[in-house]
Amino acid sequence: MRCNRCGQEAVIGMRHHRLALCKSCYLSWFPRFVDRTIQQFHMFGRDDRVLVAVSGGKDSLSLWEVLFHLGYAADGAYIQLGIEQGRYSEQSLEMVRAFVEAHPGTSVHVVDLKSRYGISVPEWAEEKQGRKVCSLCGLVKRHEMNRVAYEGGYTVLATGHNVDDEVATLLQNTLHWQTAYLNRQGPVLPSTHPKLVRKVKPLCRLYEREVAAYALLRGIRYIYDECPFSKGAKSLFYKELLNQLEEASPASKDHFYLDFVRAKADGRMRFEDKEAARLQDCPKCGQPTTTEGLCAFCRLWVR
Ligand code: AMP
Ligand code: ZN
Repeated sequence: MRCNRCGQEAVIGMRHHRLALCKSCYLSWFPRFVDRTIQQFHMFGRDDRVLVAVSGGKDSLSLWEVLFHLGYAADGAYIQLGIEQGRYSEQSLEMVRAFVEAHPGTSVHVVDLKSRYGISVPEWAEEKQGRKVCSLCGLVKRHEMNRVAYEGGYTVLATGHNVDDEVATLLQNTLHWQTAYLNRQGPVLPSTHPKLVRKVKPLCRLYEREVAAYALLRGIRYIYDECPFSKGAKSLFYKELLNQLEEASPASKDHFYLDFVRAKADGRMRFEDKEAARLQDCPKCGQPTTTEGLCAFCRLWVR
């Protein structure tokens, strides 16, 4: 396999783009593709202050590296969830710190749940019996990320979700006709309240293997392990299914996602989201919430 740009030995083939590239051409193609995605969905501009939610994994660290490389003003934020199994949280944080050290001018906000709220996510899940660690974790991350972004005066919050993440969620939401989730899913979640920071997913058109290849070729150190609680997660099963589909019909994942986004954007498909309209401030933390009284995060504290 030869590089379509320069004829050298290719290191990656992307069937859905009908493109094979060598290491050096890939390393220059990838950031440009991310930048094109940022423009395509009007995610943010040079004047924005971007906060990247970094987990220590390949996706979010690659995203941060690319934004740094492209010259966007981007800081990081890491939530120390207190997952001690396999020293997962600790090792992830080490990767984030190593990134900051290797990229002069970058800085990271670290939120340590245990020291801030006195309890880690696994301990919390145990206390709230019947509550799954992953759903609790998602709720905590959303709340804390928005808080850090808002308090820090950032105009956009960027996450490392790739196409594989997005189509797995899309399939899951569609199978259950989760219309409120479908309404909110997309490359950009606009701010609907002064205290809700706009959310963007600049890697939403890159396949997981492409991001992994970039991290590897670029020499980004990241945590290889998945979160120990994600084992057996439904989303992994959906990813597997979608990969089979992609294998039989290249570009399926990219099209499934893009066509969904387009159908919503041009009004061919509309979902009702009754909750979206009514937002009020949580009396405890002050963040906007759709529920009457305390927000879902603050309700966790009520025993
Ligand atoms: P996940 O839900 O673990 O697949 O992560 C999706 C995205 O959320 C990642 O690409 C990161 O941008 C962000 N993220 C996940 N875990 C953390 C964390 N502990 N701290 C900050 N951001 C995170
Ligand atoms: Zn609250």
